[in-house]
Amino acid sequence: MSAELAFNRSVDVDYGVAEEVAPQVRRIVANNPSPYTFLGTNTYIVGRGRVAVIDPGPACEQHLAAIVEATRGERVTHILITHSHRDHCDGARGLQALVGGEILSFGPTGTERGAGAPGLGEAFVDPAFRPDRTLHDGDVVKAGGVALDVLHTPGHAPDHLCFALVGQRTVFTGDHVMGWNTTVIAPPEGSMAKFLASLEKLLPRHDKVFLPAHGGRVQTPQRVVKAYIMHRQWREQTILTCLEDGVSTIPRIVAKIYGDLDADLKAAAALSVLAHLEHMISRGLVRETGQTGHAAQPAAGTEAGLASVYSVSPGASSPASS
Ligand SMILES: [Zn+2]
Repeated sequence: MSAELAFNRSVDVDYGVAEEVAPQVRRIVANNPSPYTFLGTNTYIVGRGRVAVIDPGPACEQHLAAIVEATRGERVTHILITHSHRDHCDGARGLQALVGGEILSFGPTGTERGAGAPGLGEAFVDPAFRPDRTLHDGDVVKAGGVALDVLHTPGHAPDHLCFALVGQRTVFTGDHVMGWNTTVIAPPEGSMAKFLASLEKLLPRHDKVFLPAHGGRVQTPQRVVKAYIMHRQWREQTILTCLEDGVSTIPRIVAKIYGDLDADLKAAAALSVLAHLEHMISRGLVRETGQTGHAAQPAAGTEAGLASVYSVSPGASSPASS
């Protein structure tokens, strides 16, 4: 099983310029590069004449002005949000004030939002985000000359949606599947079990291109989805090997499998390991021992999970095959 995913990070970017990336699809990249957003957030304009905007991006005046410029003489009928992370949704109300359009997203999930790592809390998630109308799995959104199938794909975020362009074998994958990196799964915001189920959901489709919210297009979608799944299975196996070798706390597992990381990325890596452990606990492969790795007993939830000592469940073996 290979650990390496082949990423395409060679994307030329011209911020604020609308570029035709597929039939009836234009892309404008927002100038908000970061370790989590790669070169910036991709905003897509779908259709002609009457158009849908997918992910208006951050509340950045220049970026919103670029969307207004690109859609001059057209009517924005919908503003679609893949998920309520600020780099995707913060610009929604500002764009609506400029061009109109109904804001559509999955809406509140009733689950705990945010994640306890620098850059992954409320600076990252907008738990108060509300659309004008909520979308559900199986809905169809129609804009000028195009139709988009709505796919609920939780995992990275509980409210994550992908939009499939009907008849084009093209899917707007948001942060669910990207070509430049694996997606961040950080509890409680992220769920590994749901993420894997959402990857499986894409497997039987016959898409020919994914257009993610960060980075360039994914030309071999099925292969990339399979590679994502294999990568997670490999990571799970690595964590189990750590536990079998007595490396039983998250900080020690992170140090062992990621090596030297700067503090922010270390915190994100710790949450990713926690996501894997939660998924293995739910399947009975791993258990929490009830001890913590240090003297103080943290309250509950994610913090307690990060401080726990873990062990392989008695009788659990050959885990990756489940
Ligand atoms: Zn996101």
